[in-house]
Amino acid sequence: MSRRLIVQKFGGSSLANVKRIQSVAKRIVSYKKQGCDLVVVVSALGDTTDELVELAHKINPEPSEREMDMLLSTGEQISVALLAMAIHKLGYEAISFTGAQVGIITDASHTRARIIRINTDKIKEELRKGRIVIVAGFQGVTLNQDITTLGRGGSDLTAVALAKELKVDECQIYTDVEGVYTADPRIVPQARKLKYITFDEMLEMASLGAQVMQARSIEVAKKFNVTIHVRSSFNNKLGTMIVKEVKKMEEVVVSAVTLNKNEAKITICDVPDRPGIAAKLFKELSSAGINVDMIVQNVSHIRKTDISFTVNKQDLLKTVKVTKKVAKEIRAGDVIQDEDIARVSIVGVGMKSHPGVAANMFDTLAKNKINIEMISTSDISISCIIKKKFAEIAVRALHDKFGLSKKG
Ligand code: ADP
Ligand code: ASP
Ligand code: MG
Repeated sequence: MSRRLIVQKFGGSSLANVKRIQSVAKRIVSYKKQGCDLVVVVSALGDTTDELVELAHKINPEPSEREMDMLLSTGEQISVALLAMAIHKLGYEAISFTGAQVGIITDASHTRARIIRINTDKIKEELRKGRIVIVAGFQGVTLNQDITTLGRGGSDLTAVALAKELKVDECQIYTDVEGVYTADPRIVPQARKLKYITFDEMLEMASLGAQVMQARSIEVAKKFNVTIHVRSSFNNKLGTMIVKEVKKMEEVVVSAVTLNKNEAKITICDVPDRPGIAAKLFKELSSAGINVDMIVQNVSHIRKTDISFTVNKQDLLKTVKVTKKVAKEIRAGDVIQDEDIARVSIVGVGMKSHPGVAANMFDTLAKNKINIEMISTSDISISCIIKKKFAEIAVRALHDKFGLSKKG
């Protein structure tokens, strides 16, 4: 019988100090002792990536994306080396690699690069020698030898992509909570751990702010049907299985509530109400590489209207610049930015067949005196933009309203 091959990914908080690195090393070795072959993916230690981002912005508020990748990729390089040393100390063979060294080839879209292909020869060769292979997450290299990163949370993507490419028996994602919950357990203590969740729901949750898994990693998992086990790096309990399909006895309408505080709202006032204006604005934003999220255009009564939209906060500076330029060209009014917002969303495949879910959501927010600034819906989710100070109250109220809390 062939040996079991497992990809294990450890997030930053699981590697926040020496003790935790040692305990991760012990866990890895315990699998090795059971006869498994292991490819381990790691993130940067603790909050290293955030600290590096902050440092860069102190030097230059608009750093070059290529240099940003050069900087951020160093975080993961520290982790792989330290983890290899910790495993050596336990008497086992391990070898660390950067993304470039193991042939994770990406396109050149710095800070959000896409994986084009992975050459697994080197990993396989090391596994054959009996070594534990440790790979730096979140990074790759272009065909021109430029280092790239895969977007925040990108070590999840490295793990899933390697799991697919190596056709592993299991892909385990170790983090600082016990699995995927009905809401962020740090905000809702009564949140329930889900035993199973579908790719579609997890993808929606991740896109709407549940950072426990990176959205793009779930896209890849869904495309290639890679089952993922999300579990705690602090204990041995079973976590959550992210799978293609979940057979439920009873249809659950809402599976989870999510929160995203990383968006900002831009309003462009007094926009002339004629064809082609929205097209011009959003075309320019997209040429600048800005991903626009929710868009609301008010009905116009006076041939002028306001357009509001949200973007990721990290794109705010760039967005305001482009929007102001377009506003001038189309003779619109002021451009207003608002960072004091949050997006609360409810997610569930059951929503498709149940009317009245949106009304219930709006009613819950109204009862808590929370004003809704923008609304957007998809097949399996409803999102509202509200003032940031109400974010946690809204999440808890919705979690309660849709019956997601632990019983008893
Ligand atoms: P890692 O460093 O392991 O990659 P992250 O910080 O990226 O960990 O993701 C784990 C965090 O995701 C948890 O600490 C938790 O606060 C947050 N989170 C948000 N929504 C959820 C959810 N629905 N279920 C579990 N965790 C969630
Ligand atoms: N260190 C990177 C980040 O903080 C990648 C990751 O943690 O997955 O975004
Ligand atoms: Mg993460």
